Amino acid sequence: MTLYAGTIVDTPGDPFTGDPDDALAQTGALLVREGVIRARGSVADLRGEYPDEPVTRLDGGLLVPGFVDSHVHFPQIRAIGGLGMPLLDWLEQCALPEESKLADRAYARAVAGEFLDGLLASGTTSALVFGSHFAPAMDELFGAAEQRGLNITSGLVLSDRILRPDLLNSPETALTDSADLILRWHDRGRLRYAVTPRFSLSASDDMLDVCAQLLGKGVWFTSHINENVAEIAQVAGLFPGARNYLDTYRRHGLVTERSVLAHNVHPADAELEVLAEHGASVAHCPTSNCALGSGLFPLRRHVQHGVRVALGSDVGAGAGLFLPKEALQAYFIQQLLGPDGLPLTPAHLLYLATRAGARALGLDDRVGDFAVGKDFDAVWLRPVPGSTLEVNLNHARDTTDALARIFALATPADVADVWIRGVSGRAPR
Ligand SMILES: [Zn+2]
Repeated sequence: MTLYAGTIVDTPGDPFTGDPDDALAQTGALLVREGVIRARGSVADLRGEYPDEPVTRLDGGLLVPGFVDSHVHFPQIRAIGGLGMPLLDWLEQCALPEESKLADRAYARAVAGEFLDGLLASGTTSALVFGSHFAPAMDELFGAAEQRGLNITSGLVLSDRILRPDLLNSPETALTDSADLILRWHDRGRLRYAVTPRFSLSASDDMLDVCAQLLGKGVWFTSHINENVAEIAQVAGLFPGARNYLDTYRRHGLVTERSVLAHNVHPADAELEVLAEHGASVAHCPTSNCALGSGLFPLRRHVQHGVRVALGSDVGAGAGLFLPKEALQAYFIQQLLGPDGLPLTPAHLLYLATRAGARALGLDDRVGDFAVGKDFDAVWLRPVPGSTLEVNLNHARDTTDALARIFALATPADVADVWIRGVSGRAPR
């Protein structure tokens, strides 16, 4: 067992349904045995109760739960920074040529390693990962994630039209390849499978039917929705019988409480109602939405309709894997929306980067906060000595103020250590 002592902060509550300050909690120590949190309390109390346990002091900065990224593309880790294009041009010119390279298994292996090490270095310990169009590349990702102990949900990306031909699969091969991958990887340790049509723009009704058949196996579902106005218009043209974009998925039974749909920047009220009714979640990807000029996310409308929202980095359209940067950008977007925006507090930002993702992924009984019984997945954010963040933390009034300064200023360089089920994921700085 180990007793971790420091400034330990999490959001066991939900700042969107009550007073945000009540959602935040702080403690001085956690007792961890075999990767699981066994007790929580003040240092004095826990040392009194467990006098023989070794103490690991985390002096300076804050210890927060491992971040949960609800939307990120592993094949795009080498394709960040393609600026100046709207979604469909960016896909064609920047993302998809890179994704084609993962047909080469050795290339996919290298990319999977870079991607997962990047998540760890950014303090992300759980993620819903948009996969590759190639099944062997998925074996590489799952295998490498298992080695690192990360909590990864992912799946083969399915498309049978519109994209470049080398990225297309037929509904028949999609079914057999996905079923094989589910057998090999779903519910194996911390790995789970997600059925992943790229978007209904590139997936015919036959392909979406295959997705529905695969969902019968108890796996997850993820895709894109309502990201860009040109994309939405094309989808409407391809599905003349559908009421709206969400309906292209709903008609096939793909909108459930195990569904996470990325973006939803331009939803109709009817779509928000259906998302809420089915308990599906939306992955909000702020830096991606800004980089591609997709639009300003209507968070208030989602919350008003009772739709669960989590945070995604959407690398490679997003500007990096570090979730606090996404949280800050989410805050900026709500400020820019003026009266239509939902002003976010530091408690909202921490919740979005941690527990909101755990809830969207159905993992909140295991991760997302530091409740007793949960896995010890944690990030120690301690500022680089001499940094502006260090100066600001030295002048923070209280923990909430310290959190605000961390969200404003922290970078992956301030990730001093990461734990995955109690095992340090990198050498402490
Ligand atoms: Zn995406």
